[in-house]
Amino acid sequence: MRVSEYMEQAELFKGVVALIEDANTIAICAHTSPDGDAIGSGLALAEVIRTAWPGKRVTNLLADKDPVPRIYRFLPGSDTFVHAVDYDVTPDLFICVDLSQMSRLADAEKICARAHHVAVLDHHPSGERFWEAGVVRPDAAATGVIISEFCLHSSRVLTPTIAQNLLCAIVTDTGRFQYQNADSEAFETASMLVEAGASPAEVALNVYQSDRLAYVHLAARVLARIQTFAEGRIAYSFATAEDIANAGVTLDELDGLIDLVRCIEGTQVALFLKEVDGGKVRGNLRSKCDLDVSGIAREMGGGGHRAAAGFTASGTVDEVRAIVLPKLCALFDDSAAPSSALTADVRGASR
Ligand code: 5GP
Ligand code: MN
Repeated sequence: MRVSEYMEQAELFKGVVALIEDANTIAICAHTSPDGDAIGSGLALAEVIRTAWPGKRVTNLLADKDPVPRIYRFLPGSDTFVHAVDYDVTPDLFICVDLSQMSRLADAEKICARAHHVAVLDHHPSGERFWEAGVVRPDAAATGVIISEFCLHSSRVLTPTIAQNLLCAIVTDTGRFQYQNADSEAFETASMLVEAGASPAEVALNVYQSDRLAYVHLAARVLARIQTFAEGRIAYSFATAEDIANAGVTLDELDGLIDLVRCIEGTQVALFLKEVDGGKVRGNLRSKCDLDVSGIAREMGGGGHRAAAGFTASGTVDEVRAIVLPKLCALFDDSAAPSSALTADVRGASR
């Protein structure tokens, strides 16, 4: 970050600090289907506030009814989350972390709407502003980077537990420092967190080396099905509702499958589709190059970053793939896959 940007961020942090100082009850919530950045950033921010402003009633909320994803249960404080549907308080302050789009709050949207004040700390390209104070920096690799800087700005106390939550946030959102967002700020912040007591090995052990066998067997099927389109520039795979039910895996366990799809040499964009409850399909889109896949995610009713975006659409994987693949092909100027060839190519591909 340039010095001027750092100063600008410090000013914005002051606005968040002012809201925290005025509040007694504070609810912190991240996006629906929380990932490592959502869980880790929320927990870290709660501890930062409790440390710097003792006496505030701070609650970490989960936007959905699901429990904390299994691989994040090692994080300090992960057993303190409250489901938004069970939280009947009207908080003085509601802080959104890792999201800046009201609709992604799911069950917590109502709490945000009735809260007296709202702040946001996020790194997603944002929609319409609904908060009074906050930092939204799409150039930040993870919300965990912003919360780390907020911690230095406010409490200046970086406990080993705050550090561990923030390191997990940054490691997961940068794909273990492999994605295009893994910049010097992410590395510098991670270094500071390790210095403060965070354990990269513990994060890796829990997040990347603790798969259930049932998941690995399903992953093998997903791997075997990977297909490429547009002369190898698009990689695609999927999991049907039947696959998921037969394997006995939970949906959050499938979050890593898109990383298998993107591994193929020469692939520039990757798509993974999975059938979730209620006749819906959840899509993960990734770009390994400069191409921006967030526009396609938005067209599908979702959103996200240029290189990592997602959406949920109605239909089966076959139906959703038939809509999304042509959009991906259109990203390539010389569209190596004419629509007729594409249709022939993918027919019957999924079952
Ligand atoms: P994933 O594919 O891992 O679910 O999400 C990739 C990125 O896109 C994450 O930053 C996530 O927050 C964002 N994202 C995923 N689904 C949606 C969605 O439905 N709406 C919006 N606005 N962002 C999404
Ligand atoms: Mn994030």
